[in-house]
Amino acid sequence: MRRLAVLAGLCLGLVSAQAAPSGVLTIRFLDVGQGDAVLITSPEGKSVLYDGGRSEARLQGLLTQYQVKSLDLVVASHADSDHITGLVPAVQTFKPKYFLNNGLAGTTQIWQKLVTTAKLAGTQGLRAKNQVINLGSVKLTVIPPPPGMKDQNTNSVGLLVQYGSFRALMTGDSETPETRAWLKQLPASTLGPIDVYKSIHHGAKNGDNAAWLAAVRPANVVIGVGPNNYGHPTAEAITLYKKAGAAIYRTDLNGTVTVTVQPGGTYTLSAAKGTGTAATRTQAPPSVTPPAAPSVVYANCAAVRAAGKAPLLRGQPGYSPKLDRDGDGRACE
Ligand SMILES: [Zn+2]
Repeated sequence: MRRLAVLAGLCLGLVSAQAAPSGVLTIRFLDVGQGDAVLITSPEGKSVLYDGGRSEARLQGLLTQYQVKSLDLVVASHADSDHITGLVPAVQTFKPKYFLNNGLAGTTQIWQKLVTTAKLAGTQGLRAKNQVINLGSVKLTVIPPPPGMKDQNTNSVGLLVQYGSFRALMTGDSETPETRAWLKQLPASTLGPIDVYKSIHHGAKNGDNAAWLAAVRPANVVIGVGPNNYGHPTAEAITLYKKAGAAIYRTDLNGTVTVTVQPGGTYTLSAAKGTGTAATRTQAPPSVTPPAAPSVVYANCAAVRAAGKAPLLRGQPGYSPKLDRDGDGRACE
């Protein structure tokens, strides 16, 4: 019976039945080219679209491909066109109840179009504040921009997605001043470890930084990126993700990246094309893991947990490959 179910699942995967299955949390980092769009569907079938990418037609096509039937909420991380353009057809088609945003009017025509479309659809604007939104059984924690930020990027709205032990985090195009302010405001425990993390600002130089990633501790990073003249994703960002021990997925190379989360929080990632770069699993240079005897030695994971040090990251005192059975750089997870 179980085998039949698996076979049926495989067959469904081969044909184009790509609706989010019920009973699990599905997060799709949609391939919208250079831009961001993340579709989150709860086990109960409730959906949120966090950003919509730069093209109305492309987003419309993806909503059709993934058989989206309704949207309860749309979120604009900020008002730049590579994030909000696709929200226009999403609002037109599904008339979501709410449009969550940073409260700063954009200066572009597409912002005006989005606001007009929302009015016509009866969609109510909501300014991001500290709040929790229950999307069925999935907990969405809104991370509003800190006060005193000066432009659209640094006023990006963040979203923490929690289901069982699973945690995903996306923070738009937030730049270092915003993440620095968040680090002061938010206790580190409210951030990492994060299972699936959206790269800030398409892997720009001014987005992710070492201090922020040390708190986020991402296991997987997804970069929303397409052909561009900005050099995204930058070598600097990729290096940071590798140093963090994260597997790296890119929508330009991997297409839409889908995360499926079971009740309880175990999850799988799958890419429309190829596989992600599990950087530290397959190609950690010897220099990353110094062979010198560590000054702290734990006999086993029970000892690590007793010391309150789990999970141990590669490079931390006491880490050893022996304690890291899956070799992902995080021992005693
Ligand atoms: Zn952007």
